[in-house]
Amino acid sequence: MTEETLSNLLHEERRFEPPAELAAAANVTADAYAEADADRLAFWAKAAERVSWAEPFTEVLDWSNPPFARWYGGGRLNAAYNCVDRHVEAGHGDRVALHWVGEPDDEARTVTYAELRDEVCRAANALTELGVTAGDRVAIYMPMIPETVVAMLACARLGAPHTVVFGGFSADALASRISDCQAKVVITSDGGYRRGAASALKPAVDEACDKVAAGNEVEVEKVLVVRRTGQDVAWQDGRDVWWHDVVDAQSPEHEPEAFDAEHPLYVMYTSGTTGKPKGILHTTGGYLVGTAWTHWAVFDLKPETDVYWCTADVGWVTGHSYMVYGPLANGATQVMYEGTPDTPHKGRWWEIIERYGVTIFYTAPTAIRTFMKQGEQIPAGFDMSSLRLLGSVGESINPEAYVWYRRVIGADRCPIVDTWWQTETGQIMVSPLPGVTAGKPGSAMTALPGVSAQVVNDEGKAVAPGSGGYLVLTEPWPGMLRTIWGDDERFRKTYWSRFPGRYFAGDGAKLDEDGDIWLLGRVDDVMNVSGHRLSTTEIESALVSHPKVAEAAVVGANDETTGQAVCAFVILRETAVAEADEPGEGEDLVQELRRHVQREIGAIAKPRQIMVVQELPKTRSGKIMRRLLRDVAENREVGDVTTLADSSVMGLIQDGLSSSSSDDA
Ligand code: ATP
Ligand code: MG
Repeated sequence: MTEETLSNLLHEERRFEPPAELAAAANVTADAYAEADADRLAFWAKAAERVSWAEPFTEVLDWSNPPFARWYGGGRLNAAYNCVDRHVEAGHGDRVALHWVGEPDDEARTVTYAELRDEVCRAANALTELGVTAGDRVAIYMPMIPETVVAMLACARLGAPHTVVFGGFSADALASRISDCQAKVVITSDGGYRRGAASALKPAVDEACDKVAAGNEVEVEKVLVVRRTGQDVAWQDGRDVWWHDVVDAQSPEHEPEAFDAEHPLYVMYTSGTTGKPKGILHTTGGYLVGTAWTHWAVFDLKPETDVYWCTADVGWVTGHSYMVYGPLANGATQVMYEGTPDTPHKGRWWEIIERYGVTIFYTAPTAIRTFMKQGEQIPAGFDMSSLRLLGSVGESINPEAYVWYRRVIGADRCPIVDTWWQTETGQIMVSPLPGVTAGKPGSAMTALPGVSAQVVNDEGKAVAPGSGGYLVLTEPWPGMLRTIWGDDERFRKTYWSRFPGRYFAGDGAKLDEDGDIWLLGRVDDVMNVSGHRLSTTEIESALVSHPKVAEAAVVGANDETTGQAVCAFVILRETAVAEADEPGEGEDLVQELRRHVQREIGAIAKPRQIMVVQELPKTRSGKIMRRLLRDVAENREVGDVTTLADSSVMGLIQDGLSSSSSDDA
């Protein structure tokens, strides 16, 4: 993907400078870039002061055996001590750690740092009693409740790597993750609340345990169950234990053991957008430094005054790095919400922002596009004047969605940090610094201080401004993955072989004339139309910039003449849906959208086919699974759907298409 990449000029002229007030008091200034450029390892040594070490490290980085990095060699620390105890010791025990909000509207709990510390100690004592020792793996399959955070920190305290599996995953998905990392204990709950009703979790654990046992792997020895909903659960004596029976009675004292900086902290499976999930291993010291520093710098966190809210589920990496480890290491006060944004009403998130005076808000483009679809009158009904900073993660944010987010949620006052990173990177890598960098809708801007990103062509040569290619990271960073669990060879092959010595992210990117980075979508998703490389992200953003379109997904389908042809799936905004249903209107709309893409990008990008759909297939973390849409566009049987958020979506799309006439090739 080189000079052929189309340069989409959509809104590129828009720039938002950092607000003067924020810039004047920002945690990080422009000097950080110069400092890190002058001496990258000295920069990361200094960043490591954000963490409390039981024994200081003697070597910042050992990169003598790439791609296996060792950060902060000789250092010893305890991640849970860093996230709770030390804040209590520093006199902040009364500070709120979590404002937990249940989905049922009348439920809420406030957990201070002192309370969190006690609970983590009790849980660590309980896990010890259940036989968990350092190095054992523990699977966590929970709803968004405080006990989930407690469970993660209790594992970290004992040096037992956790693997959190999103509560919406099936028994199969859970079983394959338990088997892959051979977890001997599972922590779960009877269920949780979602969309206004109690849903069950324990039955999936029972099924997964049976599957694991049948597969001749290690057996799950204990299942620790939190009572959340009070629903009936099947019980296996000897294996199953209630949280309230074994945790509540424990002592709130527990001596944290200091572990080697490279001691495994957790295994997290990627969201499976491009294929089978990979078990990404993160270790203790580097990961904690990477997440704490970036959370403090990118969100300009002021722990005494800010109320931070990251809407991600703890079941994926954003929940690990920017709800648990980064914010808690920084002593932040945050909101944790159990439910969905539309329960019991579509203004639920905005109501929570108003109620808790949220100042920093971090969410995903998929959510923003959903709110755009519903219309701005809903957020307009709430007072969100407490907000001062907005963040985005998970996918490129379409310029139209960025501008809407900034204007409607941020009242044109709050800067947006568009943060590019991955499960593998552990920490944010490419993002504006809110007091330093201007924001451009659709661009993640530049690599953070201490991070070395490049956009390179097929031969691995850095491209010039104005051109596109592959995003690579040229130097190791503290929060980097250490390997794929149990598969060093796959680790090497997937990330370090395409451009030897450099980390291959798998994402396409381009540099604009200023040298700022625009993410273009997965390399696997790039289309080749008559020899031109086209980016899914750019065509999707062109479609979303049309006033009638709320969401779009673009894929390349085999085409006899052009090699691949652009096929688009669009969801209309609510105001446009009724119109499109009028006889003849649907067809006109499709033509209008094709012309719109031609105008915005060029004739080569004009979709061969546009299909209006109700839903798009998304992973549990809200990302579009284009590979499934490619199967539909090419009339193939759809591939692996195990990580799909809603498995009925593919059926709906296929039914809708066979009865619609929107194929206008
Ligand atoms: P898998 O690797 O199993 O296919 P996944 O890549 O979706 O799953 P994650 O690690 O959760 O799993 O997602 C990381 C990817 O998300 C990045 O590689 C990138 O494609 C996308 N991404 C995240 N943040 C941004 C952003 N701010 N801008 C553009 N893309 C982003
Ligand atoms: Mg990935």
